[in-house]
Amino acid sequence: MANLNGNIMNLAKLSHNELMARCAWCHQHMHEDQECFGAGARVRPVAKTQLAGKEGTLLPMQLSTGREIIVVVPAAASEARVAGHDIYFQTCSEECCKQLAAALRAELLAGN
Ligand SMILES: [Zn+2]
Repeated sequence: MANLNGNIMNLAKLSHNELMARCAWCHQHMHEDQECFGAGARVRPVAKTQLAGKEGTLLPMQLSTGREIIVVVPAAASEARVAGHDIYFQTCSEECCKQLAAALRAELLAGN
């Protein structure tokens, strides 16, 4: 079977700083002075249990398609939380941001 996600690496092996420096969707390194795009999202209840106790950290999260994304779990009192977002992500481009948002929507529909 062809590997369609050739640029996808094993995120679990990366350090917190490494994860923070990468695009949530394509996992490319982002430069500090690079414009980055961020958005918050809600996750389905089953995914919320994976996030419990992880507030204020970054973690790789696997989608049902097998693709891993890097998500930030906002701290309890953060603006993202107040806005109703369970996760937050940052991407290297608007395109990555759109694709990630679309994947999350598909994920929400695929679940329950
Ligand atoms: Zn990207």
